[in-house]
Amino acid sequence: MAIIVQKFGGSSVADTEKLFAVCKHITREFDQGNQVVVVVSAQGKTTDGLVKQIGEIAETPSQREYDVLLSTGEQITIAKLAMCLQELGYDAISYMGWQVPLITDGNHANARIEYIESKNIRADLDNGKIVIVTGFQGVDRQGNITTFGRGGSDTTAVALAAALNADKCEIYTDVDGIFSSDPRIITNVKKIETMCSDEMLELASLGAKVLHSRCVEIGKNYDVPIHVKSTFMEESCGTLIKNDRDNFEKLVISGIAKQDNNSRITVICDKILCEKKDSCQPYKVFKLLADHGVNVDIIVKSHDGTAETDISFSIESKELDKTLKVLKKYKQDIGAKKILHSDGLSKISVVGVGMVNTPGVAAITFEVLHNSGIDMHMISTSEIKISILVDADKANLAMQVLHDQFMS
Ligand code: ADP
Ligand code: ASP
Ligand code: MG
Repeated sequence: MAIIVQKFGGSSVADTEKLFAVCKHITREFDQGNQVVVVVSAQGKTTDGLVKQIGEIAETPSQREYDVLLSTGEQITIAKLAMCLQELGYDAISYMGWQVPLITDGNHANARIEYIESKNIRADLDNGKIVIVTGFQGVDRQGNITTFGRGGSDTTAVALAAALNADKCEIYTDVDGIFSSDPRIITNVKKIETMCSDEMLELASLGAKVLHSRCVEIGKNYDVPIHVKSTFMEESCGTLIKNDRDNFEKLVISGIAKQDNNSRITVICDKILCEKKDSCQPYKVFKLLADHGVNVDIIVKSHDGTAETDISFSIESKELDKTLKVLKKYKQDIGAKKILHSDGLSKISVVGVGMVNTPGVAAITFEVLHNSGIDMHMISTSEIKISILVDADKANLAMQVLHDQFMS
């Protein structure tokens, strides 16, 4: 008898008809003699609606109360799904994350799972029940409800699969697996049958929202293969994400991702002030930002020994106002002459383990963008990815031309 964890995202459980459609996937596995644990998201756009309602009340709400409210969407889905299964004659029981419990740290809105108590779930499974758990939430050691960040139900599913030592972890969604880019933006996308977790981790962290990046991290660390499938297709073979680099040398690039809402800040150092006070050192700038909770992404610094030194970095646009305020306030301390910024940027990333052994991918990427009239504001690379900040209004074009270049 195998243990199967299945997760259904918001669009898969959007209404009652869809909830009954989801029951078919669950009961198919159960009827074959397997033990089934189901993780669900809030229905449709429920969580977006809750975020909007918070915006009507407060600009900077209490993070604790934000989590209390956001966790409610999933509660509705678990109860409804349990009732649907009961109507079909199955014994189902639902749990909120705190009831399991899924213990997390106290980092509201971005909590990390520390421990899952799986005893009660195991007992229910052994008693022939189908267990349904809310995605995206847990409880900290003080008893406060926490959430994992938007899209975090995937993480609940993979973490439960790891804790239960499950035989399969299936993530059902509205597309038939992982594609070479977002099928809603790019034409001629290719389905990827197997993908290594390193590539998926990069793609998910760089904006391919099909999976929450932390679920890929957990899958990688606990060796849980993740099978991404379509809820709505009859015969979905989906994409299997696993640890070995199977694709190595077959595909140079596996995917292209986009992340909107990036900003760039440039700190122009005051040479005279710097010589006097040893300021304008990168550590001073970034320590200041870290002390104020600003997450920095790409950093570029160059110094030719004669000219004034600049430090440029990118951040999420939602942090722009706060970051500018801090930098302006401490301008003297960090030795800055001017602080410049530009908003409305998107990060395009080309990802593939095949890059490791293939020279010239960067050159081709930059040439393709240049030939399409797309300015590159910042560039960062790792062993298996190249990311470029481009103007947001050229971002989809950038994805398409890079996709045409590498994937056709
Ligand atoms: P769910 O509600 O099931 O969690 P999401 O909306 O979070 O679903 O994720 C599925 C969406 O991810 C797809 O509809 C698709 O637009 C988007 N997506 C972005 N990049 C990719 C990719 N490379 N492959 C597949 N889907 C992608
Ligand atoms: N309902 C949450 C969200 O919309 C979690 C999820 O869907 O994974 O972000
Ligand atoms: Mg999702």
